[in-house]
Amino acid sequence: MKVLAVNAGSSSLKFQMYEMPEEKVLISGVFERIGIENSFYTIKLNGEKIRHEVELSNHSVAVGFLTKELLENNIVESLEEIKGVGHRTVQGADKISDSVIVNDYVEDVIKKYTTLAPLHNPASLVGIKAFKEYMPNAIHVAVFDTAFHQTMPEEAFMYAVPYDWYTNYAVRKYGMHGTSHKYVSRRINEILGRDDTKVIVCHLGNGGSLSAVVNGKCIDTSMGLTPNAGIVMGSRCGDIDASIIPYIMEVTGMNISEVDKALNKESGLLGISGVSSDSRDVENGANEGNKRCILAQGMYVRRVVEYIAKYYVLMGGADAICFTAGIGENSISTREKIIERLAVLGIKLDKEANNIRGEERLITTKDSSIPCYVIPTNEELMIARDTYNLVNEK
Ligand code: ADP
Repeated sequence: MKVLAVNAGSSSLKFQMYEMPEEKVLISGVFERIGIENSFYTIKLNGEKIRHEVELSNHSVAVGFLTKELLENNIVESLEEIKGVGHRTVQGADKISDSVIVNDYVEDVIKKYTTLAPLHNPASLVGIKAFKEYMPNAIHVAVFDTAFHQTMPEEAFMYAVPYDWYTNYAVRKYGMHGTSHKYVSRRINEILGRDDTKVIVCHLGNGGSLSAVVNGKCIDTSMGLTPNAGIVMGSRCGDIDASIIPYIMEVTGMNISEVDKALNKESGLLGISGVSSDSRDVENGANEGNKRCILAQGMYVRRVVEYIAKYYVLMGGADAICFTAGIGENSISTREKIIERLAVLGIKLDKEANNIRGEERLITTKDSSIPCYVIPTNEELMIARDTYNLVNEK
């Protein structure tokens, strides 16, 4: 069965086409600068990457090119062969706790929670509409970033703010990167050969979040109402004292959207280092002795360690700690610094094993109290799996 996994952003569209259940990627690609000048797309097929400069005035035009590529490259003879399209969707709030077939209710939920994901939810709707136009007979599935975290208990997801902020305005922790946390926590259970596990997943990308997963279910995660909570990120501040906001508005005269922009786009590694939001640049700066890069790195590592410690205690131990996403999969020195600070728990890094990028691997020694693994995430595959399962159930 042919299944498409789609991730629509406000000006981009990524896709992977799978043969299921074999989980074989047939073709993948990304459309960039949709609705902006100099738009283009790249297609990856048989190990080759081909770039096409074309005008992409909207998402529907992009899906038109996508279908053309599928047909011209003989991936499908007819679009009718595509039985399922899985759409990555960000915010489903507490209304949706698993991947679901898109219907009017699901579209209404995505629309309703646009206030909580102003860039992402509208993009998902645009993507769904564009694919429905070309593939009206396929089953369209929404895979929500928040869904995996819906198993959190109330005491984990509530904020200690006036209760009616929750009842009237849906203020609570939702968490993000759920598809990645789900994929990695399932994969580690496969590796460990059992499901009754306590696992800490560290999704360390440009955005980053940790989750505590007990018996396959999320019991806590570091992102909150929005993605700007938890660890230090590329340009987001993560956890801060909430009173900084009114204070800084008062002393600088900044308005709320300026402060919001500063906390989302000018903070984190970028804000502290003054160099870059990219951890590679910060690492290079630190290696050259740049004090602010060293500080940014130290703060980053410390915050991750704090969350690991917190989840270790909350779960009453851990069977594994997993590192994933751009930094988690590729930054040897960040993993080393984090794991070295966990020595008090009896965790021991295997330096040689840790010397890898983007590969699944055990990176702690045999006598380490808790094994740590690098597990490259695969959100597209998770989307394709959920879509395939829902198409089969129908
Ligand atoms: P997102 O999907 O949130 O945009 P990614 O998961 O792609 O982010 O992660 C991007 C981050 O991964 C960047 O900070 C980048 O510096 C980091 N990264 C990628 N490759 C490496 C590497 N080889 N060494 C260190 N950091 C890396």
